[in-house]
Amino acid sequence: GEGLPRPEQTRVIVVANQKGGVGKTTTTVNLAASLALHGGRVLVIDLDPQGNASTALGIDHHADVPSIYDVLVESKPLAEVVQPVPDVEGLFCAPATIDLAGAEIELVSLVARESRLQRAIQAYEQPLDYVLIDCPPSLGLLTVNALVAGQEVLIPIQCEYYALEGLGQLLRNVDLVRGHLNPTLHVSTILLTMYDGRTRLASQVAEEVRTHFGDEVLRTSIPRSVRISEAPSYGQTVLTYDPGSSGALSYLEAAREIALKGVGVGYDASQAHVGA
Ligand code: ADP
Ligand code: MG
Repeated sequence: GEGLPRPEQTRVIVVANQKGGVGKTTTTVNLAASLALHGGRVLVIDLDPQGNASTALGIDHHADVPSIYDVLVESKPLAEVVQPVPDVEGLFCAPATIDLAGAEIELVSLVARESRLQRAIQAYEQPLDYVLIDCPPSLGLLTVNALVAGQEVLIPIQCEYYALEGLGQLLRNVDLVRGHLNPTLHVSTILLTMYDGRTRLASQVAEEVRTHFGDEVLRTSIPRSVRISEAPSYGQTVLTYDPGSSGALSYLEAAREIALKGVGVGYDASQAHVGA
């Protein structure tokens, strides 16, 4: 990796948007791989019972594999479920198996049901620069656990009609969790995904998002790219599947922005490797 400043403390970034299909999982795995390629140590926590992030990282997650379910419901140490991601040095994954679908209900009756993930991460002893949590498309107890565990929320937004609809509910939940359970939580990053600058609608929505969120919106947006959507079926991120593609370069650039923002270094878009 080219090497970027590493954060002084582990940054726990929650990738959330209760809408499905906006690019949460794609963003989680490709940003994580990019941060690792830039020299960081990165853990992806797959918190979606679908296990799409685990699949995309080439991580075995059939029903018997120790998983984040065991961590949340059975109090198994996180270290016992984490697997190294093949082909990407410094990248690790805590997989999700199908039992996680039941966790939403099982958690309800457990002690400290909102903070089980936070405790597991705090007890994890291996050094990490970033933890990226891939949330399910809902605002239930799994997402609440992620919001309690994190400091930052990253919201991927697909530039289409209704893009902002429903975001109010997520933002209210972030406020509630900040007020009651996790005072450090804030929306740090908005990332425009599947962006097609040739369409009027996409550029209108992008403008609306930038007006609404200002500096939290990354300069880099992620283009719609067939290579990005093909990579998961090979158990790879686009960073190893097609490292020179526009999708790979844009995720590397987004990762660079995030890393620089984290250490308070202003981001100079004129230095960008790909267009924003
Ligand atoms: P979510 O996790 O929010 O449900 P996904 O990351 O699974 O969303 O993305 C939804 C679908 O869109 C997937 O099929 C994925 O491969 C595809 N996709 C995501 N980002 C891109 C992109 N930049 N270009 C093309 N396809 C994309
Ligand atoms: Mg997903």
